[in-house]
This record gives sequence, structure tokens and C-alpha cells, in this order.
Amino acid sequence: MAARVVSPSKKLLKSLCNGKFFSTRPLNTSSPSSSISINLTTEKQPPIDLHRPTNTASLDLHDVEKLFSSVTTTKLLRASANLQMAAMGPMVDFGMWVMNSKLMDIEGFKEIVLGFVKHTFYEHFCAGEDALATGDTVRRLHNGGAGLRAMLDYAVEYAGDNQSCDRNLEAFLRTVEIAKSLPPSSVSFVIVKISAICPLKLLERVSDLLRWQHKNPSFNLAWKMDTLPILSDISPTYHTLKEPEPLTLEEEHDLQLGHQRLLKICQNCLVSNVPLTIDAEHTSVQPAIDYLTYSSAIMYNKDDNILVYGTIQAYLKDAKERLLRAYQAADEMGVPVGIKLVRGAYMSSERKLASSLGFESPIHNSIQETHTCYNNCASFMLNKIANGPGALVLATHNTESGRIAVGQAHDLGIGKVNQKLEFAQLYGMSDALSFGLRNAGFQVSKYMPFGPVEIVMSYLLRRAEENRGLLSTSTLDRQLMRNELKRRLKGAIF
Ligand SMILES: Cc1cc2nc3c(=O)[nH]c(=O)nc-3n(C[C@H](O)[C@H](O)[C@H](O)COP(=O)(O)OP(=O)(O)OC[C@H]3O[C@@H](n4cnc5c(N)ncnc54)[C@H](O)[C@@H]3O)c2cc1C
Repeated sequence: MAARVVSPSKKLLKSLCNGKFFSTRPLNTSSPSSSISINLTTEKQPPIDLHRPTNTASLDLHDVEKLFSSVTTTKLLRASANLQMAAMGPMVDFGMWVMNSKLMDIEGFKEIVLGFVKHTFYEHFCAGEDALATGDTVRRLHNGGAGLRAMLDYAVEYAGDNQSCDRNLEAFLRTVEIAKSLPPSSVSFVIVKISAICPLKLLERVSDLLRWQHKNPSFNLAWKMDTLPILSDISPTYHTLKEPEPLTLEEEHDLQLGHQRLLKICQNCLVSNVPLTIDAEHTSVQPAIDYLTYSSAIMYNKDDNILVYGTIQAYLKDAKERLLRAYQAADEMGVPVGIKLVRGAYMSSERKLASSLGFESPIHNSIQETHTCYNNCASFMLNKIANGPGALVLATHNTESGRIAVGQAHDLGIGKVNQKLEFAQLYGMSDALSFGLRNAGFQVSKYMPFGPVEIVMSYLLRRAEENRGLLSTSTLDRQLMRNELKRRLKGAIF
């Protein structure tokens, strides 16, 4: 949030308000796990009632003045303009077509397009190009009145070979350095994508072998280290229809290299006292990602300190069972688990792959089932962390999921003083929800991708493509921003 308040022209402010212009690291305890049972009731998501009576335990999205008190008018205007553009389907389609077209090879054209993207979407959704700019954004977000924390994500996508993996490793290690250099507790997590430090093809091979072993427990994997349960009996196995060849010596060596890269990041995070969250990706590689995540968690998560967090995607039909199995096994081993809970960002590609192979989609058949699964997984983890080991990041823009979790956390006595719960939204998305959760007394983070525009571009394109629904559901945010802009305009006139 910019520190200086710049007054926009009243005409511009008015047209925006009318919608004309654009339509400290979480810790856990080592006490015994709670025996509170899992609430598996199905919650229907009613329409959001902004006027619902509020108390200290509830999420108040009604008082826009309080919500946006730390945001300058200029920032509000820019944010609502960018969100409006991002929510326009044809505009996003056209942008993606241009970015993927041969036009980008034309001298000068690429620079113009990247310049436009940099001053609109990039500035809105990304923290900065380098350590300096990113640090400034994190400080503004944390100290500039907003009190939000950062999940730092060097936004690289997949790596194909060891050389790119090593390059990405250096970038992740620099990210840990950035986190260390910033004010304590302004950075909640460093984010890592396993497919950026271990070649994608190898992750697919390892996932195949893990799936095959799950179906045939006597199938021997000599290289396999201690881990937690990765798959459940309802996990999809259509990716692996016949017995996979064992890893070659070279593949085993590459897997070891990938694992060592992850351990190096873990070690640096440990020394820098900043936890690490590992993103979830496609189901074709997720078993290998969970395998590496859980084996590192077994090594690094100790007593009150949870260093390594994994991610569960609630849009998957097997999400709840996998979560329960992993939590239970970890509990028996005395390993505290950290979970980031998301709905999932690869829905269209997952559905396409399953249907191309002639199998049922691994994604819940309806969005309502995804909502229910998300809320049930959240409820399970909240019950566990309230009285036992574990920590939870509720990564969502869904207001109803936020509201349900706030109520339950309050009932269970989990609040600001309890460092085991963090809410998180993407930087540039659902600011109203972030501010509302912060006002309700919770720790809130923004997931902040950063890096040079050209590198972050594939991240932005993937987000735009996969999250068409998400971007168009920024309606609530835009509505709340317009309400606040109207209020400020009235204040300026009268
Ligand atoms: C901090 C943070 C970290 C994240 N990390 C990851 C990550 O590691 N891996 C990852 O995959 N994603 C990640 N995401 C993205 C996330 O998975 C979602 O894509 C995004 O947050 C939208 O979900 P929501 O909870 O905000 O819910 P909502 O705003 O309610 O969005 C729901 C969306 O879910 C989709 N959807 C899900 N299931 C169904 C279904 N059965 N039928 C139809 N539509 C469905 C729709 O597109 C809909 O727009 C992260 C998000 C955040 C905020």
C-alpha cells in the first residue's frame, strides 16, 4: 500500500464508483493429539450476507471503511481497475492468445506487451522483480498499516533438467535470504514448487512407481525413504496402468539430487527460522511431491517447530482420506504435520487428462462437493491443532469457508495468540477477506509471487487460464472496493 495519499480526479473516482469505467513462524505443540471427532456434515454454502450481525468472533465484511483503512485511494482505484480487467473473459482470452502467439517474436512488440502487463497485472498480482522491490512490497504490506504477512514465492514453473533445477535452487535459496533480511514475522513462509527443483519427467516416473506400490504392496522400491501415506484406496491410478520399469541408476541419482536440493532449502529455512510450504501440483506428479514433502517433514518437523508444510487440494475426491491417513500416521510417529489447504488450481487439465484416458475425473463432480470437502478438511485440522500437534494454513478466497473457519477457530479457542493457524490469499486477490480476517484477530498472509516479468509470465498465464472462474468471482471484492470508493467520494464532496 503506497504511503502517500494521492487524490485522484473526482470525475474518475465517480465513474469507478458507478461501475461505469470498468464494469514468526507458526509453531505447534507436542501435546497428545485431540480425540475430537471429525465433523463430516455437509454444509451448503448460502449466499454471502454482508449485513449479518457481527461479534468479535465473526468475519465482518460490511464495514468497508474499517476493511480498507490501510489502503490509499489511488491503490483502491488501481486495484479495482485491474481486477475488472482480469475478470473480463474476452480480454483474458485475447491476452493469452497474444502472449502465446508468434507476434511475441516481433522486435519491439514483445517489449510493448510486457510493458503493459508489467504496469497492470504484474504490479497487481506480483511483489516485484528483485529482492529490493519485493522487500519493499513486503514491508508495506506488513508495516504500512495492513499488518499482513508474506508467503514468498519465486514464481518459476517446471524444470526439465538438472541444470534448470540447480538454477531454480539458487533462486529459492535467495528467497530464503530475502525472508531472513526482512522484519521478523513479516514473512510467514517461503514457497517451493518441487517440479522446479526435480525434473518433471522424473516426478512422473516416481509417482508411477509409488502408485504401483500402493496397488501392489510387495512391489519393492529400494530407494524409498521413510514417508507418510501418500495415496488412499480411492486415489486415482489411471496414470499407471501397467507395471512401471524400475528407476535406472541415472534416475535414482537424479532423484537423490532433487531430494538434496529440497534438503538444502529446508536447512537454510531452519537456520533462517522461516518455514517452508510446498505447493501441490498435478495428480500425475503429486505422489512424488508428497513423498519428498513428507520425508523432509519427518526429518525437520520437531516438537513445537513445524518447518515443512505440504498442500492438500480439496477439489480431489481422495483429499479427505489422504489428509486423515497422513495425519494419523504422523501422529503415531510423533511427527507434527503442517498442512496448507487449498481447493486446487489445475481443474481443467486434470479433467482433460482423465477424460482423454477414458477415466472418471479425480475432481469432485460438483463445486458444492469441493466446498464441503474443503470445509470438512479444515474442520478436521482445526479440531486437531486446537488440542494437539499440527498447524494449518487455510488458503482460500472463499468467504463462506473463511466465515465457517473463523467461527470454529473461535469456538475452539484458536486465535491470534495461537500461532498454529494462518489464513492466506493470493496477493492482489480478496483483499477484503484478508483485512476482514485480520480484523477478526487472525494471522493473515498474502501469497506473493515475485521475479523478473518474463519468468513470472508463465505463472500469470497459468493463473489466468486455470482461474478463469476465480478471476470472475472477484465480484465481491470489486463491489466492496466500489462501496469504499463511493464513501470516500461522498466524504470528499460533503
Ligand atoms: C495462498 C494460496 C496458495 C495456493 N496454493 C496452491 C497450491 O499449492 N496448489 C494448487 O493447486 N492451488 C493453490 N492455490 C489455488 C487454489 O487451489 C484455488 O485455485 C483458488 O484459491 C480458488 O479456490 P478458493 O478456495 O479461493 O475458492 P473459491 O473462490 O470458492 O473458488 C472456487 C473455484 O474452485 C473451482 N472448482 C473446484 N472444484 C470444482 C468443481 N468440482 N466443480 C467446479 N468448479 C470447481 C472453480 O474454478 C471455482 O472458481 C492457492 C491459493 C492460495 C490463496
